[in-house]
Amino acid sequence: MTDLSKIRGFLFDLDGVLYVGDRVIEGVREALDILRRHYPCRFITNTSTKSLESLHGKLSAMGFSVAREEIISAPQAVILYLKSQGTPVCHLLLADDVRRDFSCFPQSDSRAEFVVVGDIGERWNYSVLNRAFRLLFEGADLLAVHKNRFWQTEEGLNLDIGAFVAALEYASARNARVFGKPSPDFFRMALEDLGLQPGQVAIVGDDIDSDIGGGQQVGLMGILVRTGKYRESYVRASKIRPDLMIDSFRDLPRVLGLS
Ligand SMILES: [Mg+2]
Repeated sequence: MTDLSKIRGFLFDLDGVLYVGDRVIEGVREALDILRRHYPCRFITNTSTKSLESLHGKLSAMGFSVAREEIISAPQAVILYLKSQGTPVCHLLLADDVRRDFSCFPQSDSRAEFVVVGDIGERWNYSVLNRAFRLLFEGADLLAVHKNRFWQTEEGLNLDIGAFVAALEYASARNARVFGKPSPDFFRMALEDLGLQPGQVAIVGDDIDSDIGGGQQVGLMGILVRTGKYRESYVRASKIRPDLMIDSFRDLPRVLGLS
């Protein structure tokens, strides 16, 4: 039996845990309200289609009580890194909404120190990839907001940006610096913000690789939900073993003896 008594705080993944697309998963709003009365929480997401402002707006519109300061998104980690490099010239493969958060950096299509890869949805095509490849070949560094394989949409599973990051790594023979989950630095950033030690925190997510594997790597407890991108066959084939599996986020208060 997994010992949850040491847990003092939680990290929650968003997509696939609280909602899928624009649909709130049944019972999770009520569960979050209960959990928040007992534990400090941070919401950590690899989502690279929305600025922090828009993400917060989406959660609020869905009826979740989440403060903007409690959301830690992968693009923010990229921005912190770029700022540590001065004001480098960037080539941004980012959704327009997220691009606004990067407006402090000079941008170029022809000469860049960094190529930043996020989610550009239907805009991926040969010329976009080829331009990025040429910049990398000429010496730019590849920064990936994350390297997820796939995610769950309302229509089904979608190919995620990890596939494009891998293509660019292969062609340029360079490795990307990856920022979101499962990067240990990303989890540490969230732990520091919570002010807790890894052994006192659990991550709740629908991604066995990024959420559970990434969290366990830094010493967190990993709780996998069977919603969102969860697929039994994929999880069974994985070497990663969640500390706990629950059908849905809405079951968490009961598991913790809170309701
Ligand atoms: Mg997720």
